[in-house]
Amino acid sequence: MYDYLIVGAGLYGAVFANEAGKRGKTCLVIEKRGHIAGNVYTEKTEGINVHKYGAHIFHTSDKEIWDYINRFAEFNNYVNQPVARYKNECYNLPFNMNTFTKIWPDVFTPAEAKARIEEERRESFTKQPKNLEEQALNLVGKTIYEKLIKGYTGKQWGRACTELPAFIIKRLPVRFTFDNNYFNDRYQGIPIGGYTAIVEKMLEGCQVRLNTDFFSDKENFLACAKKIVYTGAIDRFYDYRFGALEYRSVRFETEVLDTDNFQGNAVINYTDAETPFTRIIEHKHFEFGTQPKTVISREYSSAWKPGDEPYYPVNDEKNGKLYLQYKALADKEERVIFGGRLGQYKYYDMHNVIREALNEAQRQLG
Ligand code: FAD
Ligand code: UDP
Repeated sequence: MYDYLIVGAGLYGAVFANEAGKRGKTCLVIEKRGHIAGNVYTEKTEGINVHKYGAHIFHTSDKEIWDYINRFAEFNNYVNQPVARYKNECYNLPFNMNTFTKIWPDVFTPAEAKARIEEERRESFTKQPKNLEEQALNLVGKTIYEKLIKGYTGKQWGRACTELPAFIIKRLPVRFTFDNNYFNDRYQGIPIGGYTAIVEKMLEGCQVRLNTDFFSDKENFLACAKKIVYTGAIDRFYDYRFGALEYRSVRFETEVLDTDNFQGNAVINYTDAETPFTRIIEHKHFEFGTQPKTVISREYSSAWKPGDEPYYPVNDEKNGKLYLQYKALADKEERVIFGGRLGQYKYYDMHNVIREALNEAQRQLG
């Protein structure tokens, strides 16, 4: 009999297991994939740490979380500065003075950029934006919306911007300085040696069973520990009894190229509607790599269907309501804790997941 059964060896499960271990509790971690680390998993190819489930940049303003994660790895000084490619044009992201002066060659100063955006906004301003299109038009006007947002967002979410909630775009900074840093957070970087090594350290001394699906033997697994920390999909736990929650999935096409520098940046977003992928990641640039070859991944966003990896919860109204039905059941569980991106059906970044897991460990274990 273990104190905790932890379903999923992703970041949430690993942080919780580490905290429980420190307090002398026994844990069994089961993971249905053939490796630990969940979606932050990195694997070496050609001497390059490849982010197998999409680019992961660690960023936070929470000093406690930054200090916590630095106990498991040293971080480099990578700052995410993605570039947008729209047909034959390249623009800096997020939307900042570098973007504005290139989009509008007669704009040079913040005042001129603001005036130009204001001019464009006047044509389409909506007092209370109800969807992503209205929100984006209010924020940056028509030209930027059409070149840098409309096509990318449509591909990413598989539906028109008029059908998406406004909050999705609020994640992106709009700045009137020449600053290409994608995040506003105080701390940022990529762990030297990759993310898998972090999770390995977190799980040191803990029993981990890979290739083990909780649902292959649910009854026995439920009986093998006093409490269960479940980080899989919450709707799956309840056999989809109210219906399936929607997710977005991503297909990664990864290849090794015989060149030392394919695109000159870690992340290039393809913001037109015609290019079928959303972005290309060139992994070596996350760690300033000087290897003779390079590894790139094209990301194709797709609707989730059973059997696919669920990546992004679709936090719109319909799914939000459905999630609340499942959450009502989860709240009544005395022995099962639902955690992480899938367990709580939330668009969590890594720092959020660590914060949630540490808080839960504190509540459970003191
Ligand atoms: P997961 O990593 O999904 O772990 C859950 C684990 O449970 C998985 O390993 C899964 O296989 C396992 N599991 C599920 N069901 C079962 C079962 N039935 N039995 C056994 N095991 C099971 N965050 C950032 O901070 N910065 C970024 O740049 C960033 N980029 C991202 C890019 C992409 C494409 C995606 C998808 C996410 C990104 N994130 C980023 C978010 C980050 O990946 C998550 O915050 C984090 O990985 C969530 O950890 P988790 O433990 O909740 O979930
Ligand atoms: N977005 C966009 N153009 C871009 C990058 C992002 O329109 O070049 C929009 C898109 O709707 C996306 C949202 O901004 O879903 C949030 O982007 P972010 O990069 O934070 O998404 P992530 O892939 O990290 O979840």
